[in-house]
Amino acid sequence: MNTASTIRCISKNGIKSLFSPLVQRGVKISAYNANYADVVIAGGGMVGTSLACALGCSAAFKNQSICLLEASPVTVKKDWTSVPYENRVSAITPGSKSFFEGIDVWDKISARRYHPFQHMHVWDSSSSGSISVDSKDVHEDNIAYIVENSVIVESLLEATHESDNVQIKYETRINNVDFPVAEAGNSYTEDLVTVHLENGDKIQTKLLIGADGFNSFVRGSAQMQTCDYDYNQSAVVATLKISSKDTKNQTAWQRFLQNGPIALLPIDDNYNSLVWSTSKEHAKLLMNLSEDEFVESINNVIQSSHETNTLVDTVASYAKYLITTIQPGRYASNFLVSPPIVTELQDKSRGMFPLGLKHSTHYVKSRLALVGDAAHRIHPMAGQGVNLGFGDVRCLTQLLETAVDHGEDIGALETLLPYETERQRRVIPIISAINALNSLFSSTSTPVILARGLGLQAADVMSPIKDRIVKYAMN
Ligand SMILES: Cc1cc2nc3c(=O)[nH]c(=O)nc-3n(C[C@H](O)[C@H](O)[C@H](O)COP(=O)(O)OP(=O)(O)OC[C@H]3O[C@@H](n4cnc5c(N)ncnc54)[C@H](O)[C@@H]3O)c2cc1C
Repeated sequence: MNTASTIRCISKNGIKSLFSPLVQRGVKISAYNANYADVVIAGGGMVGTSLACALGCSAAFKNQSICLLEASPVTVKKDWTSVPYENRVSAITPGSKSFFEGIDVWDKISARRYHPFQHMHVWDSSSSGSISVDSKDVHEDNIAYIVENSVIVESLLEATHESDNVQIKYETRINNVDFPVAEAGNSYTEDLVTVHLENGDKIQTKLLIGADGFNSFVRGSAQMQTCDYDYNQSAVVATLKISSKDTKNQTAWQRFLQNGPIALLPIDDNYNSLVWSTSKEHAKLLMNLSEDEFVESINNVIQSSHETNTLVDTVASYAKYLITTIQPGRYASNFLVSPPIVTELQDKSRGMFPLGLKHSTHYVKSRLALVGDAAHRIHPMAGQGVNLGFGDVRCLTQLLETAVDHGEDIGALETLLPYETERQRRVIPIISAINALNSLFSSTSTPVILARGLGLQAADVMSPIKDRIVKYAMN
């Protein structure tokens, strides 16, 4: 076994108690085997690491061993007071923040860096339709928190190192998985799953968790089917210096353009993070522009009205005039400052990522559960991807804790099935809503543009409906 990259070993107590729940269920373990962990997590991205951390700090799991396998090398800790902002950030919802607080990670994120925002403005490039949200309307201090992905992983690792039952192996890639086969007519098997590593080692486990991203090797090994959709879009990301009347930079901006949405997310008082989803060809073009041309392109699409459909705009403006005359002050958007002006591109911060939808038809099978992008990869327009992954982790952790407390086999299909049901109830409506929004906003047909312009205006004034949707997304 490659111990050089192992940063924490299974405690003696952990090893002694490895078999107790299994023995209760009569699971076959021939002899003590060092290549064993109660739970093996494949993939140490944000979601896999958060699961290792949540299980590591769980009282129910204190006698269980957890092994996290990550293909990449260990990352060097950064001095967050001086390093430039990273171009990969996530909008963390208040629900995910509560999860981090529960596992003692939020204080570690705060000690590094993040930026909260209180307002959100979404508007259409083809009509005057827009929708604005204020954190006060949904009784929250902030709508979300922009955090660099590396800040999240580093903070999670710091908290994970405080547990003595989590072992992390870097530069360790899974290259085969042997799932046990149940006898005919029986969904339960006592046999363990065997994980084969590229270095020739094997680890046996009661429960393998696939947290290995949207191209999940683990999901493929289990022959789980996926529904796939190619948006034919890529996301161009970058860190941008901005100038804004809002000196505290407290608003997240998203404009729907014909090729996809462009979002400016505040990462400090003077910088925004860009996520521009656009056609693959346009994304390549943006990547090859000079820095000045790139900045100019962003300002053009954020500030200009070149995609506006004049007929739709006239009708929508008239509708807005009527509503503001009948009910003055109903438009939240009336109170907002204008979008920031981009002044500079942070050096070497441009990057491009393909976008697509991938949904696994099942999240569990006997001795396997999928979490995060391995189970569901979605479009970033709603800032939900990793938040759904943290939701998976919260749900699975609670369920496994109950199973351990009751002496049940944590890898049994019957233990894992409620996780699949609960999470698919949450994930599938979000995927459907995102796909509907993507189709709606990419249409260039005048009746569709008119309907969405009026729809946005109606939604903006219907506070109870708008607030319920926003609350749902903030969980
Ligand atoms: C441009 C963009 C912007 C986004 N913005 C947001 C946002 O604002 N809010 C939000 O909620 N979501 C956002 N998302 C989505 C979010 O980034 C993903 O949902 C999230 O990164 C998924 O995390 P994960 O840990 O599931 O997978 P990954 O980040 O893909 O991690 C998988 C890990 O598994 C490892 N691995 C892979 N194969 C193996 C193997 N065989 N053996 C061992 N290890 C392996 C990999 O090295 C990797 O570290 C955005 C996505 C994009 C593309």
